Amino acid sequence: MAFGLSMYPIVYLARFNPDTKKWNEQWIEKDTVPYNKLMEMNEQDRSKILENRNDLGLPGVSYTSQYGYGCFEGMKAFPTKDGGIGIFRPDRNAARFANSMKGLKTEPFPEDMFVKASVEFIKRNNELGYLPEYNPEWEKDNYASAAAIYIRPFMNTEGAIGVGCSQTPYVIICATTVSAYFKGGNTKAVTTKRIRATPNGTGYIKCASNYVISALAKKEAEDQGFMECVYLDSEDHKYLQEGSSCNIFFVMKDGTVCTPELGDTILPGITRMSTLTLAKQAGYKTEERKISIDEVMTDAVECFVTGTAAGITPIESITHNGKEAVFNNRKPGKIATSLQATLKGTQYGKVADKNNWVYRAL
Ligand SMILES: *Cc1c(COP(=O)(O)O)cnc(C)c1O
Repeated sequence: MAFGLSMYPIVYLARFNPDTKKWNEQWIEKDTVPYNKLMEMNEQDRSKILENRNDLGLPGVSYTSQYGYGCFEGMKAFPTKDGGIGIFRPDRNAARFANSMKGLKTEPFPEDMFVKASVEFIKRNNELGYLPEYNPEWEKDNYASAAAIYIRPFMNTEGAIGVGCSQTPYVIICATTVSAYFKGGNTKAVTTKRIRATPNGTGYIKCASNYVISALAKKEAEDQGFMECVYLDSEDHKYLQEGSSCNIFFVMKDGTVCTPELGDTILPGITRMSTLTLAKQAGYKTEERKISIDEVMTDAVECFVTGTAAGITPIESITHNGKEAVFNNRKPGKIATSLQATLKGTQYGKVADKNNWVYRAL
């Protein structure tokens, strides 16, 4: 079945009150039919419930709906081998979310409230049987087919029609169940002429308006038979930036694990940060620096993209100006594979969490 936006029945909502300077919290429990009951229903009744859950009662005409003025987070919770549920680094998502709201010149949502509400969200939805359970079968393909909970906190604004900044933002936390992000098939990437982010723009925050370009560039890449598109910088159109909505890494001939350095055009991915840490801990040399497309075409031996939804996904080739650079004979590289095994193993509780990244919710 297709999962709707608020597949999970209980949704968190907070709203800022500028008079009291407080966030008023509430839990929306519109349709709390337990998971097994939902699955027993016929398709029509089930769709009605899922559609109804998607209606959160937010203003239809707002800075968000009219101008893409809003921001969001993508965070995952994982069923763990010991039977619990762990959220991966919610403190980092909380910090980035607050930074996105600051970047939008609105009241930042407190980081401690973000983490607390995320944990409570898991507990409440668990009571209705919505969380996936750990399955040892997942270990066989190294969690490629494993289920997780995709948590989507986001900010929307009050009703408004003129261009402006939000005074009384809403913060919502909803979630869906997810499995693999990229459909099977090729893992070819192509450079795009489109510009995702410009200096002094909003590329460094997870701001809603940034993703129109991503949707267009990704569709153009897919229409040409590629899985993914890759952005170059706006000024020289020479240096690697990101994938369509994930960060990008290369392993160079000398074994160095490289990723473009952060700046105001690159989204500071939590998977990016975690991958750098795991690579260092595994003894690889890492670099955050400018990486030109020319260097990639001649010197890269592995390429992979990283993100909460994508995890660590190997890329078989990049095509630039009609020339294709193939990495590792189109097979997942050794370093990407080993980093992915450590990351997923940590998230699903099979590998010791030596950095204390997993936050127990259950
Ligand atoms: C969310 C996102 C990423 C990945 O960030 P994670 O925290 O690893 O999920 C990378 N690039 C863009 C543009 C993004 O929106």
